[in-house]
Amino acid sequence: MSILVTGGAGYIGSHMVCSLLEQGRDVVVLDNLVNASYAALERVQALTGRCAIFIKGDVRDRSTLEHIFDSHSVNEVLHFAGLKAVGESIEQPLRYYDNNVGGTLSLCKAMATAGVRRLVFSSSATVYGHVERMPIKETMPTGRPTNPYGRSKLMVEEVLRDLCRTDPRWSVALLRYFNPVGAHESGRIGEDPSGIPNNLVPFISQVAIGKCGALPIFGNDYPTRDGTGVRDYIHVLDLVEGHLAAMETIARRSGVSIWNLGTGQGYSVLEMIRMFEKVAGRPVPYTIQRRRDGDIAECWSDPSLAERELGWKARRGLEEMLVDTWRWQTANPRGYG
Ligand code: NAD
Ligand code: UDP
Repeated sequence: MSILVTGGAGYIGSHMVCSLLEQGRDVVVLDNLVNASYAALERVQALTGRCAIFIKGDVRDRSTLEHIFDSHSVNEVLHFAGLKAVGESIEQPLRYYDNNVGGTLSLCKAMATAGVRRLVFSSSATVYGHVERMPIKETMPTGRPTNPYGRSKLMVEEVLRDLCRTDPRWSVALLRYFNPVGAHESGRIGEDPSGIPNNLVPFISQVAIGKCGALPIFGNDYPTRDGTGVRDYIHVLDLVEGHLAAMETIARRSGVSIWNLGTGQGYSVLEMIRMFEKVAGRPVPYTIQRRRDGDIAECWSDPSLAERELGWKARRGLEEMLVDTWRWQTANPRGYG
């Protein structure tokens, strides 16, 4: 049996495919390469000595999906494909809803037709919206995400809940990621943002290597220990291990299961800069800017439900996350390009 990985050429997807191939699993990747390079999969092949079947196509394309389910014996799907840039989603809301919500609808329809009803969905901590008290537990109500990207994740969660409510043969995991960072320990695959990075760690990394001048810190007047935003950064390889555990667990369950994937530990922007400077052995210049619209002061997980139910816990600490980021950055100053 094969696993279909949508978005498998992307940042998290490529690390997932690498791990699945290492475990001897057969993998089919569907990716339209809108935000990825095929080179990532070539490197995964070099690392593992095994090859995923790659289909360049769009998850919204019904005939592509039908072809995949007709010609490969897929029994579960990991659905990473989606657009993820918050700012872009504010400028292009229809594109985001069409891609992220529309893509999941066509995927689920094709899965239903093929009789495949096991799905792991890449959700996000953004679905909690503004939370007053940390840490965040899965039992807390979802909030009102501040942008179309976040709302597209919440909409998909609702769609998948409705689907499971009406048909108990479905088994779906909603994995709410906190802040994935880091790279494969080989330095061969990692995050390769196009243009100016939106997220903190790729931005710091590009400042350290000299591709960007200074890091803009978005606000130092938050009610946090040093005034800068606090987040729960998780190593991408821990995230991948969380998916493996979730896949095993939902194979024995039906309905919707929700797990936070985070470390349970928050770090401020200034703490991230200090740790990066230590790891890279060079300064990371920064400027203080006004707060970024829609940002919250702090956000970190209570990951104990995943530990209890999945037997999974993030193992890698902040230093390891940034050492691996820096190794990837220095070995690939131009990313996959
Ligand atoms: P990414 O952009 O690197 O990977 C997404 C992949 O999906 C890309 O390879 C892209 O080419 C592909 N894709 C996009 N739309 C597609 C479509 N219509 N058809 C086929 N392929 C398509 O992003 P990532 O960081 O690897 O994130 C993976 C998933 O995790 C996304 O759904 C994202 O929203 C979610 N997520 C990411 C983060 C994060 O900080 N990285 C946090 C929470 C949730
Ligand atoms: N951040 C920052 N400068 C940047 C990018 C991010 O100061 O160039 C801050 C941001 O305000 C937040 C933290 O870093 O407090 C993490 O931001 P990121 O965009 O990586 O993740 P998210 O806000 O989606 O959790």
